[in-house]
Amino acid sequence: MRKPLVAGNWKMNGSSASNKLLLDAILAQRDSFASVDVALFPPALYIQQVQSALTGTGMHWGTQNVSQFDSGAYTGEISAAMLRDFSCQYVLIGHSERRCLYAELNLDQVFLDHIIAEKYEMSVKHGITPIICIGESPEEHSMGRTEEMVARLMDIVIAQQGVEMLSKVVLAYEPVWAIGTGKTASPEWAQDVHSFMRQRVAKHDANIAASLRILYGGSVKGNNAAPLFAKPDIDGGLIGGGSRDADEFVQICQAAV
Ligand code: 13P
Repeated sequence: MRKPLVAGNWKMNGSSASNKLLLDAILAQRDSFASVDVALFPPALYIQQVQSALTGTGMHWGTQNVSQFDSGAYTGEISAAMLRDFSCQYVLIGHSERRCLYAELNLDQVFLDHIIAEKYEMSVKHGITPIICIGESPEEHSMGRTEEMVARLMDIVIAQQGVEMLSKVVLAYEPVWAIGTGKTASPEWAQDVHSFMRQRVAKHDANIAASLRILYGGSVKGNNAAPLFAKPDIDGGLIGGGSRDADEFVQICQAAV
């Protein structure tokens, strides 16, 4: 009943020329994964290029971050209304690279999670589906704190926004130790965490939990996607490196069919 979603996070990669080659190659094979929701997340400068290429194909697009504010003196930020202007359907929120590389880990964690909740609220207000990234650091992983870290952000969102808001969101479990390392979580590990997340929502609302899409992200490639996507609580993937190679990305999308 949950439609699989494969999201390609290009991170800070690409150029007009390389994007065109990539988009053409993916679109040439779109028929082979037509039943899967697919969304691409280019750097914001290339949103218009991706929009032109994907309009009418059934594929979606969005940006890698959004401001929690409406408009005003926020240099370098992009608002949810601007995303709407370019027909973005999704936005990534709380990616670990935003958290880790932009001093956000030096801030009080709870405060940071509230900012993420505000970005989430702003996106939903503008009709954009947020993909909220959640995952433990390597240290937290080795200390066995995965469930605690995952539960904390989910509890904040539920407490601040109410569980109904989770009907308008996609969650992505992205263990930081698996991102860009080639160390994919095993399908069994990922399934256990996804099931824990779904149960946490089910305590509040079983129907919302049953329809909530939870993606796995972290070193997903063409050759390991199928066993991950076959797990009952894994509803697709958030793909980094593998989304910048057409053959790899198409193989991942096909694994979600
Ligand atoms: P990789 O697929 O390169 O590990 O990146 C995952 C990720 O961070 C997607 O948002």
